[in-house]
Amino acid sequence: MEWTAEAIRRKQKELLFPNVGTYYEQPLALESGKGMFVKDVEGREYLDFYGGILTVSVGHCNPRVTEAVIAQQKKLVHVSTLYATIPQLQLAEKVIQIRPMEEKAKAFFTNSGTEANETAVALAKEATGRQELVVLRHNYAGRSALALSMMGNKSYRPRTQSEVPGIRFAHAPYCYRCDFGLKYPDCGVACAKDLKPLIETTTDGEIAAFMAEPIQGVGGFITPPKEYFEIAVPLAREHGGLFIADEVQTAWGRTGGKWWGVQQYGVEPDIVTSAKGMANGQPIGLTLAKASIADRAKYANISTFGASPISMAAASATLGVIEEEKLMFNAQLMGKALREGLESLQQRFQAIGDVRGMGLMQAIELVKDRATKEPDPQGTARLMEAARTRGLLIGKGGLYANTLRIAPPMIVDALRLLGEALAEATRE
Ligand code: PMP
Repeated sequence: MEWTAEAIRRKQKELLFPNVGTYYEQPLALESGKGMFVKDVEGREYLDFYGGILTVSVGHCNPRVTEAVIAQQKKLVHVSTLYATIPQLQLAEKVIQIRPMEEKAKAFFTNSGTEANETAVALAKEATGRQELVVLRHNYAGRSALALSMMGNKSYRPRTQSEVPGIRFAHAPYCYRCDFGLKYPDCGVACAKDLKPLIETTTDGEIAAFMAEPIQGVGGFITPPKEYFEIAVPLAREHGGLFIADEVQTAWGRTGGKWWGVQQYGVEPDIVTSAKGMANGQPIGLTLAKASIADRAKYANISTFGASPISMAAASATLGVIEEEKLMFNAQLMGKALREGLESLQQRFQAIGDVRGMGLMQAIELVKDRATKEPDPQGTARLMEAARTRGLLIGKGGLYANTLRIAPPMIVDALRLLGEALAEATRE
């Protein structure tokens, strides 16, 4: 049969679970990608400003990553975590070198953000001997039973979920919709201070960990005020908790200028997790813990597909590209330009209630009325479709599905090209 768009849509309904590949009204059947662009089966080209959920960090089919993957594919594909491999040790050495904590760290590689978070929580429980966890409202941690129990968004919670006990939800640092009805900075960052009464009134007073995303991704790029973690993390530690930073979305320079999102906030995690953009699309999960904590992981750390030599090679190549092409700096520069552009659109369009984010992780929240802040999910869905029609892919998110998430590959280079063009045209 011929794989036309229509045939793909039909087959998808027939063969796959519901809600797979249904991001748009009409499913998008992509066939190839290069750099900032992807092409669908009918040859339509799209500018990809979502990168498969912030995962294509150095561009589709980045030649250096592709070469590394092909070379590794010819050498050794699979061993499981039963054996060490050189690609694994090389990647571990690199991530430990750029770690966001002072103390030496140790790494464990899996296949996804969900697994990275599972590992982090298991380790925190093992290391502290405690069970209870504090996470944030609007949180997204993956799709295992544990991760779903840490879900801070009703839309992603299955009705018949078997709940993992001991999880408490602190108020999110969501300034645009402050739970306390306060305004930053007069609020004194009340949401961060909430950790203390939350722990003291809803747990036995001692927790295993406080786990949070430096910027809440699926939550709609909720960006905490700069003091948030400086207040919240010590409160968690006072109650025996480790701080786990879920950097599945925010790591690898995405927030601009720094490898890790948490470094923008002047705090250091005890454990950090990541996935997505680390290997430019090869499946990967990373749990990186202070060595003194990692060494307490006495259970068997086995993952069949974990630390796949292919993913290890892809990740090393990806981090190499980020470093050598100075993409963290580019994310800062382009992020600033993108932010300014979105803010000027906000001045023009009443529908944009809030613009937020950091680096190349920027969002706009759409409302029906700026005064009441009534969310506009229908308008957001229309805007997604209208952007697609114009050949632009972006993401959606937020509790009310009214936030557009804009996170292009970090190679986006309009300003650099413009600079080069200016240099050529003006001969400066
Ligand atoms: N943590 C965060 C912050 C995420 O955004 C996601 C994925 N959206 C996950 C964990 C889960 O990652 P994965 O889908 O790779 O399991």
